[in-house]
Amino acid sequence: MQITAVEPIHLRVPIVDEIPDGTLDVLIVRIHTDEGITGIGEVTSQSYVCKACFDAPRSAARRHGLTSILVGEDPLDPETLWETMYYETNRYGRRGAAIHAISGADIAIWDIKGQAEGKPICELFGGPQRSSVRAYASVLFGDTPDDTAELAEEFVQLGLTAVKFGWGPFGQDPDIDLAHVQAARDVLGEQCDLMVDAGHAWDLPTAIRRAELLAPLNIFWLEEPLSQDDRIGYAELCKHSPVPIAAGEGDVTHFDFEDLIERGLHIVQPDVAFCGGLTVCRRVSDMCTRHGRRAVPHCFSTGINLIASLHWIASVPDGDLVEYCLRPSPLMRKLVSNLPPLIDGRVPVPTAPGLGIELDADIIREFRVD
Ligand code: MG
Repeated sequence: MQITAVEPIHLRVPIVDEIPDGTLDVLIVRIHTDEGITGIGEVTSQSYVCKACFDAPRSAARRHGLTSILVGEDPLDPETLWETMYYETNRYGRRGAAIHAISGADIAIWDIKGQAEGKPICELFGGPQRSSVRAYASVLFGDTPDDTAELAEEFVQLGLTAVKFGWGPFGQDPDIDLAHVQAARDVLGEQCDLMVDAGHAWDLPTAIRRAELLAPLNIFWLEEPLSQDDRIGYAELCKHSPVPIAAGEGDVTHFDFEDLIERGLHIVQPDVAFCGGLTVCRRVSDMCTRHGRRAVPHCFSTGINLIASLHWIASVPDGDLVEYCLRPSPLMRKLVSNLPPLIDGRVPVPTAPGLGIELDADIIREFRVD
């Protein structure tokens, strides 16, 4: 089989607010083959820049555009193709936008392989360990503790057993932080897992004090308390924090995650549409298994990201948790016409070959940027 064409398609809703919401502007990738199979992927990054990473022509050695690297290649060996893409973009890639773009290509290539072999991707990864995955929803803290309590009530009604609050007014004042987390815990009760995303608000001493302050509220994990670049800080924090520390949504390649794991990170959160794709996610979860850490997908864009994350994490022994985005954007809710539903706090893993995705052509037409 040969790749015949690569189609990066930029989708964007008319108004993109400057809030932490990955569901408003995405790049999807379709990879076509000479045997009529088309694979689908997604890139959650700066869509214009990542589209250019595909469209750029060939140049001097290791400076090529991704489409020119992929056309003519055999898509049935995704691991080798990942190495080819990584190496052939080396001079402008290695980290940043080129790796984000490779994520979309890699997901689509695994989709092609699954379809060609008549197997869902989770089966290519050694078989699903479970037919559905427990979901956690994430939302911004409310403006006041009462608003946070109201949001928590909505999640209880949805049947969720794990919830993450983050950002918003959180991080500036210990009393306010405690009041918000207490308000959420009071509504959720003790049986619901509660995570807190600090949105890299603190330095190391503040993070240790806040972790100690929030620990009695039984926090499942404390996410990104420090700057993503404060690797030394994370190493210290993971040694001293009374609650598990989570991070990794901004990291790419198994090399970066190897570093985070070595520094002691407890919960490792790659985003499949950003970190380098399914090939990288699998390498990361293998490392986590070897080191007794836990991988949990970061997933906050479209149903393509959700379904790719489900296939990956369903194949991981202790992978019974996925982020489930509840944002109203049509790119999250409607782009994938067979979006897996939330049932009793869990999401079923698709069983059709490959990703098992159907895209809504009307949504692509309506939001496509040309
Ligand atoms: Mg986060």
